[in-house]
Amino acid sequence: MGGGGGGRGVWFGVAAGCAAAACVIAAALVSRRVKSHRRWQRAAELVAEFEEGCATSVGRLKQVVDAMVVEMHAGLASDGGSKLKMLLTYVDSLPDGSEEGIFYALDLGGTNFRVLQVQLGGKGSNILKQKVERQPIPQELMISTCEKMFGFIASKLKQFVEREEGLQEGSHKTRALGFTFSFPVRQNSVSSGVLIKWTKGFDIEDIAEKDIVECLQEALTKEGLSMQVAVLVNDTVGTLALGHYHDQDTVAAVIIGTGTNACYVERPDAIIKYQGLLTNYGGMVINMEWGNFWTSHLPRTSYDIDLDEDSPNPTDQGFEKLISGMYLGEITRRVLSRVAVESEVFGDVSDKLSQPFALSTPLMATMHEDDSADLREVKRIFEQILQIPDIPLKTRRLVVKVCDIVTRRAARLVASGIVGILKKIGRDGSAPSTSGHLRAQSKRSVVAVEGGLYEGYALFRDYVDEAIVEILGEELAQNIFLKSTADGSGTGAALLAAAHLSNRKGYI
Ligand code: ADP
Ligand code: MG
Repeated sequence: MGGGGGGRGVWFGVAAGCAAAACVIAAALVSRRVKSHRRWQRAAELVAEFEEGCATSVGRLKQVVDAMVVEMHAGLASDGGSKLKMLLTYVDSLPDGSEEGIFYALDLGGTNFRVLQVQLGGKGSNILKQKVERQPIPQELMISTCEKMFGFIASKLKQFVEREEGLQEGSHKTRALGFTFSFPVRQNSVSSGVLIKWTKGFDIEDIAEKDIVECLQEALTKEGLSMQVAVLVNDTVGTLALGHYHDQDTVAAVIIGTGTNACYVERPDAIIKYQGLLTNYGGMVINMEWGNFWTSHLPRTSYDIDLDEDSPNPTDQGFEKLISGMYLGEITRRVLSRVAVESEVFGDVSDKLSQPFALSTPLMATMHEDDSADLREVKRIFEQILQIPDIPLKTRRLVVKVCDIVTRRAARLVASGIVGILKKIGRDGSAPSTSGHLRAQSKRSVVAVEGGLYEGYALFRDYVDEAIVEILGEELAQNIFLKSTADGSGTGAALLAAAHLSNRKGYI
């Protein structure tokens, strides 16, 4: 570098340096844009792949419907004949509004249990008065002994009865009680049964082989309560009973909450595994335990397979793992977590997104149903719950898309299951009527539906309705009504107790 005329050279050098720097910046910008484009491409690719894996064309839904019918037949033919247990409930009369008097119910099967009383007027479907109390079940009782567990329940019931009726011990007449016990039970009458297995965090070992109603009845007697356990049912059967009380065209019930299950009214001669033993029955409610339904026609992705393998009950409850509130948020989280790792569209990923069950189904529903223009709720949930701040609008839209894929599949599978039940009992309009005319049958069929997922998630409900119309066609779908019976399984058990005591054998 010299002096004198060297000025120009210096200037030239600086200019060249600037040009080079500009080039570098431009190159960096281009490369960033290319990178961002690639990130998007990868993210979009993953979501498209997932969508493809979750595809539920009408053709496929119809295959699921038929598989449901086949499995129902198999489960009714022999115990162990299908993944559907098709359990007998011995419930052969459903309430219809003519019941009268004061009845109680206990509802056990979650973290809360409920004690309730209904007063029935007997004229039409009219519950005069209803009182409900929720009690949390202390954690330690869930893994204690029968005596402790049922003792606790009985004492709570006693306090409740005394508050409601204000009667002295032993002075009131015997009341009937319906017991909603939402665990799989092998029943041998409407008011007795043995637990098949505990679920939902309960684990009381000394219940094996014991009659559940006897355990409860003993505890009630110990408390000095003059109460007779008239029926033992699970939540689906309670829901069916309440549905039927209000509308006698109710033929099935479905639960879509933390888990999922269904029950329906079957003809005794279709229950091959008990043929000859059920001659006194006009109809019987069958508890399908449909959460365990499986067919190769169900759309299943690598995320579902991983979720199943990581679960405490692999290969169990396959249908439930695609449908229920326990899992929808988690499936969504798994997809988003993979998108985050492989595409970096979420920026620096927090540990939270890779944490199992970090995204609950209600939160997922909130994101899915966010109708603000800038998807504010999605942003908030990502910030507050998943600890990923400032995700761009484009990414928020991608999140909503994933929620939509997960929920749409779940809802459409529920619709197929419902149509499957209706088809099995000749209520889907596909069977010739007795007069031989195809589609002549125009009977209303009502399905009672209960559960937090169904009640709290409007888009889920819309997708169920839409799929039923797609599967059956507009005309036939017009005869099918889904009715939400919010929180009704306990009330239903009290109504069933009333119906069974009114001794209308073979009523359904
Ligand atoms: P359970 O099935 O335990 O008896 P619920 O019927 O109340 O209880 O269902 C609770 C489940 O429903 C929750 O686990 C949750 O997954 C789901 N859920 C509750 N509210 C909503 C909502 N607003 N949107 C979506 N899912 C919901
Ligand atoms: Mg429930």
